[in-house]
Amino acid sequence: MKRISVLAAVVLAGSVTIAVTAAQQPAAPPPAPSLDGLTVEKVKDNLFVIRGAGGNTAVFVTASGVTVVDTKNPGWGQVLLDKIKTVTDKPVTRVINTHTHYDHVSGNIAMPATVEIIAHQYSARRMPVMSTVTGRGEPENVFKANPGKGIPKRTFKDKLTVGSGADQINLYYFGPAHTGGDAFVEFAALRVMHAGDVFARKGVPLMDQDNGGSGVQFASTVRKAVDGIKNVDTIINGHTPAQTTPADMREFADFVADYVAHVQAAKKAGKTAEEAAKTWATPAKYKGYPPGAAESVAYAQVIFNETK
Ligand SMILES: [Zn+2]
Repeated sequence: MKRISVLAAVVLAGSVTIAVTAAQQPAAPPPAPSLDGLTVEKVKDNLFVIRGAGGNTAVFVTASGVTVVDTKNPGWGQVLLDKIKTVTDKPVTRVINTHTHYDHVSGNIAMPATVEIIAHQYSARRMPVMSTVTGRGEPENVFKANPGKGIPKRTFKDKLTVGSGADQINLYYFGPAHTGGDAFVEFAALRVMHAGDVFARKGVPLMDQDNGGSGVQFASTVRKAVDGIKNVDTIINGHTPAQTTPADMREFADFVADYVAHVQAAKKAGKTAEEAAKTWATPAKYKGYPPGAAESVAYAQVIFNETK
């Protein structure tokens, strides 16, 4: 997630009121990196989720080494490597980043030089240059302070397969949503996928237009992913405390489509993006979703920008 920077960009564009900026308090200082800050959950015998300090990390233990999907907040890369040692003796050989945001990529710089790092081509391009908004609680871009370290050297456009048999991993890109470089990572033999922040949690998703994301295309991208990656039972999400299912992801696509339609109707009726966000009431059929989305003005604005 990268809520604050997107909001800041929208504020800079002069599109939201002072009331919205006032609601953004500087974040409390982040906890110091430590093993206790991370928790491990076993999903399959050779697949784990490590939660805490940023996005959910998948740890896939293959015959030849460990593949890590997403590497957490700045300062947590070495702690993540230490935590992985509590579940396997094998070395980390490959990192996959689901997208460019700092809470999913910053630990890349702690990876040994032998580790292959893979991402969608757009995310690999954004990582060294993307700005974060310090002073609003976002850390510095670690790649600017560590030039040449941790940037994905292997990229893909639509689909990439690495490994084979029990170790096969398929990476897919289905179009803009959370960012313009969202990778879906399928552990084929295990029928599990990591959906990153396209499906971070149940609720209005972050639509990061600064980094290529889209509100209007979001639901369609989610549907392409859940329809296109067929042999999956379990989904690891960007930020949820537990796994979800393809049925949850289809419901999420419907939710996003309904939200976008609401915002577009509000625009047509002459309302502001803020009014659009504040008048959203989640239909009762969406169980486990927040009742409203008053805080999602920045994403309503993205939908406004994309709706002519
Ligand atoms: Zn994100």
